[in-house]
Amino acid sequence: MYDSPPFMQPPILPAQGGKNRFLIGLFSSHVLVPVLRWRLKLQVIGGLCSGSASSGGPSGAPSAVQLGTMAARLAVSRWVAARAAARRGPLVSCWRWSSAVADTVYDVVVSGGGLVGAAMACALGYDVHFCDKKILLLEVGPKKVLEKLPETYSNRVSSISPGSATLLSSFGAWDHICNMRYRAFRRMQVWDACSEALIVFDKDNLDDMGYIVENDVIMHALTKQLEAVSDRVTVLYRSKAVGYTWPYSFPMADSSPWVQITLGDGSTLQTKLLIGADGHNSGVRQAAGIQNVSWNYDQSAVVATLHLSEATENNVAWQRFLPSGPIALLPLSDTLSSLVWSTSHEHAAELVSMDEEKFVDAINSAFWSDVNHTDFIDSAGTMLHYAIAFLKPTKVSARQLPPSVARVDAKSRALFPLGLGHAAEYVRPRLALIGDAAHRVHPLAGQGVNMGFGDISSLVHHLSTAAFNGKDLGSMSHLTGYETDRQRHNTALLAATDVLKRLYSTNATPLVLLRTWGLQATNAVSPLKEQIMAFASK
Ligand SMILES: Cc1cc2nc3c(=O)[nH]c(=O)nc-3n(C[C@H](O)[C@H](O)[C@H](O)COP(=O)(O)OP(=O)(O)OC[C@H]3O[C@@H](n4cnc5c(N)ncnc54)[C@H](O)[C@@H]3O)c2cc1C
Repeated sequence: MYDSPPFMQPPILPAQGGKNRFLIGLFSSHVLVPVLRWRLKLQVIGGLCSGSASSGGPSGAPSAVQLGTMAARLAVSRWVAARAAARRGPLVSCWRWSSAVADTVYDVVVSGGGLVGAAMACALGYDVHFCDKKILLLEVGPKKVLEKLPETYSNRVSSISPGSATLLSSFGAWDHICNMRYRAFRRMQVWDACSEALIVFDKDNLDDMGYIVENDVIMHALTKQLEAVSDRVTVLYRSKAVGYTWPYSFPMADSSPWVQITLGDGSTLQTKLLIGADGHNSGVRQAAGIQNVSWNYDQSAVVATLHLSEATENNVAWQRFLPSGPIALLPLSDTLSSLVWSTSHEHAAELVSMDEEKFVDAINSAFWSDVNHTDFIDSAGTMLHYAIAFLKPTKVSARQLPPSVARVDAKSRALFPLGLGHAAEYVRPRLALIGDAAHRVHPLAGQGVNMGFGDISSLVHHLSTAAFNGKDLGSMSHLTGYETDRQRHNTALLAATDVLKRLYSTNATPLVLLRTWGLQATNAVSPLKEQIMAFASK
């Protein structure tokens, strides 16, 4: 399903001057200017070779008929080129006379200051090759700093990979997080509610596998780091970008070569590179006419902050696949964990509204109940288990029991509808998409924001090299490098999570058998698990 408009958007007619001016502009940029340029060139050539052009006019230049034919051919080829450019770039998707040449021109504007957009602005603000660049971050919401770390944990948390932590460290945000609060986990246990099959990821050297951090804490850290580079990065909070105007593919004397952005208050500004970080309903992506393959899942995620029955080391991330969807328990402290339970929309609505005691019972039963087991699958699983033990007598990671939940923090329950989305293109001339604007993924792999942070590492690498070499930041020559890097990684992750979601959303015996054996076999093959861990920790 495609949710974006077709390639060519209807052109925006000039604000002043009306349709005639627009048509004249179109005609002069695509027909008249090239014809005149060619005529000039031909006259020069004609002058140089005067007398030698046997089929030319009296002065040796081509005749009016030849010139007309050439001009017509040229006009057609220009039109074809413009159509091709429209297919590739946003350049002709909007037409507008430049009335804002006096606007501030930024080197980079990031539209959307969520976790990914704010981190992008930070990464550029701290990049040594961007020290003379002007960067702007636009965010429709208010500034988010925590005056004081609240005692109560937020219900929105993210599992942050070591690769993402490295990125956050590179511009100092990770230090703030460490000074506030986070929980490292060293082990991850994933198991099937329809069988005994499980997979355990852990590190022999007790390295951290990842970190559970409240989104508010990450946002606070990013905001603090943005404040520290306010001389390079301007942040406009409560500012909504309401329109984007792309430059002409064939610039005219009075047109702007930059992307123009109109804000909600009517003001405009310009940028050499627009980075769309405005979430899965990205207005930037839609304005550029970039196709987005997307669908909604039949699931919503219920989140909540949970109190465990007793204090534990609590350094394991737990996830059990129920036929209705995965339920995950992520460690926050010795006594607290965060819940992410993906289930049908109806069940999710029921879970957030039921009384607290019933809710806690539902969670414990989701982790502990064997109601979905069948004798056939259990026997088949046991057979493979013995076969693996015989072939591979060395240790296979042992099953651990998840902690039981005693109560839920009042008012911490909330639900989020889930979906998948992927932009067909991440870049166009003067445009790059990052984060959920480019890809939206089911939270079962805890990878959404990590993919966004991965986008940042790649894009900053390409832009920094371009800045160092004095290249145009909005040029496709390095933007396509970013697109190639990230589409390779992100499409693999999107496909894997979508397949897992579907494979586990059923209790049909053949599929349960397939996944039971698949999970047991994967759990027994250490190099394969290491590959999976390495991929997920980027
Ligand atoms: C229940 C749940 C659990 C999750 N758990 C994890 C996890 O454990 N690990 C993980 O990696 N990911 C996780 N994710 C995914 C992760 O939350 C998202 O991938 C991430 O928040 C996306 O960040 P973003 O900045 O790209 O987009 P968003 O968070 O959507 O931010 C977009 C920003 O753009 C702003 N904006 C929008 N339009 C405009 C405009 N016109 N002008 C100015 N500003 C604008 C918005 O105000 C917003 O601040 C989870 C998701 C869910 C739903």
